[in-house]
Amino acid sequence: MRGARKICGLMTDHIYLFMGIQGSGKGTQADRLSKDLSIPHISTGDIFRAVMKEDSPLGDELRRILNSGALVPDELTSRMVRERLAKPDAAPGFILDGYPRTQGQVEHLDAMLTEQGRSIHAVFFFDLPEEETVARLEPRRICTRDQSHIYHLVNKPPKVDGICDIDGAPLKQRDDDKPEAIRKRVEEYKRETLPLLDIYRARNLVRRIDATLSMDAVTEEVLDIAKE
Ligand code: AMP
Repeated sequence: MRGARKICGLMTDHIYLFMGIQGSGKGTQADRLSKDLSIPHISTGDIFRAVMKEDSPLGDELRRILNSGALVPDELTSRMVRERLAKPDAAPGFILDGYPRTQGQVEHLDAMLTEQGRSIHAVFFFDLPEEETVARLEPRRICTRDQSHIYHLVNKPPKVDGICDIDGAPLKQRDDDKPEAIRKRVEEYKRETLPLLDIYRARNLVRRIDATLSMDAVTEEVLDIAKE
């Protein structure tokens, strides 16, 4: 398999999990690693936001769940991940950003990888103090035309207030970046996702990254670890 690597006699893939509280910069870092290794960055949040735009019962359901800051049910989430991982571009490896987020999803992912005879290379834990998350997310604005165009009213303001520098579309705040939804997401994260790190620690896969460092410093560390 292209991109597979031999470590201690075992074949392992370029399969990375990115875990961290919202606003920890894991999405940006996943994009950078994805470009560097030419493997897809698979974000369950992005998959759901794309379906949310559809005028369908599933789109309506996802809009309701995401806007409230709650989690999408495990079965549905894992089914969508399974479909995404079956695409040919994921054959050499992939980065999962925001999945797994519950114990049930860890089990689903284990089953998917076992079926394919594949294994996780590393779990990156982007460690950011809780109080930093609101400070980072609340001023975030995204482009209404392309959600990968991301601004921050303090650290990276657009040149013209409320307008995307790249394509001129209006900017907006994601509903789930509003204070009430942020609080709910942080609570979900602490209750459901943080404990999952122990599962991966027991497998010796967790690499802690200090997410308070500059974006470039974090990228350097991530690339070094991925290439070990
Ligand atoms: P994110 O962009 O990763 O912050 O995800 C945005 C929203 O999508 C979350 O607040 C959840 O509602 C939903 N979501 C994303 N990933 C998952 C997941 N693995 N399990 C359940 N819900 C998810």
